[in-house]
Amino acid sequence: MRIYSVFGNPIIHSKSPFLHNYVFNALKIDARYVRFHLKSSKNFRDIFFNYGFNGANITLPFKEELIKFCDDLNPLAEKVNAINTIVKKDNKLIGYNTDAMGFFKNIENENIKNALIIGAGGSAKAIAFILRENNIETTIINRSPEKLEFFKKHNFFSLSTNNFNISNYDLIINATSSSINNELPLEKNTLIKLFYNAKLAFDLMYGKKCEFLELAKKCNIKSIDGSKMLLYQAIEASSIFLEMPYNEISYIMQKAYKIINN
Ligand code: NDP
Repeated sequence: MRIYSVFGNPIIHSKSPFLHNYVFNALKIDARYVRFHLKSSKNFRDIFFNYGFNGANITLPFKEELIKFCDDLNPLAEKVNAINTIVKKDNKLIGYNTDAMGFFKNIENENIKNALIIGAGGSAKAIAFILRENNIETTIINRSPEKLEFFKKHNFFSLSTNNFNISNYDLIINATSSSINNELPLEKNTLIKLFYNAKLAFDLMYGKKCEFLELAKKCNIKSIDGSKMLLYQAIEASSIFLEMPYNEISYIMQKAYKIINN
């Protein structure tokens, strides 16, 4: 039997086991997907091999830390410097980043020409690269300037929130963790001006109402939360685990997603 796991801390609330096990069951694949509460990254490689895992998903706070245990990275994971999926191949660990694709699937049909990312953490990096790959002009702003160094190094236009002059963007992305505490990532008036000229607002958070998207709705623009990003990154991860086409997995995992959300 093949065995997979999601590693994180905390991990109890992860929906990944349900999504992945649903696919294994539907396809009659002899595999199980479990949760692993990883307290420290120190022994990750030993844990992975001793438990006989075939693959894993990696969530907060280990997406950057566990890169050093991979023998190889796919090109996007290497650029972004963050992984959320690992597969064992010929006794080597290969790291992938499926968050980027998970995000992009939400907006690929929205005809977006330019975007503003608020936040400069791991997910902002993944999103910035996938937007660039798809020829969407991208600006990044962040509260503290230190985290912008990465973006400057990779020739993204990036500013600290204090130096930001409002411009027009089709898409405004909240890639900060502000919504967890029900805070806005920028001053309300600044956001209203941004939303006024935008087509779409996206907040990575999911599972509860957030002020950012509520404000976007009041400004009459379309708003999307992070729930489908979670689904799409899981479909991509499953298609890597099972070496099957995205669309075949998608059809099944969408059903599991509906069960979770009913
Ligand atoms: P990081 O911890 O790497 O980065 C957090 C960022 O948020 C930093 O830029 C930080 O700024 C900024 N920030 C935090 N609080 C505030 C605030 N109150 N106001 C303004 N800026 C703030 O997090 P990640 O990039 O990994 O994740 C960000 C969010 O995205 C999380 O809520 C996470 O749960 C969610 N996420 C959702 C996914 C999905 O599938 N839907 C996938 C991945 C992430 P500073 O540098 O100044 O501290």
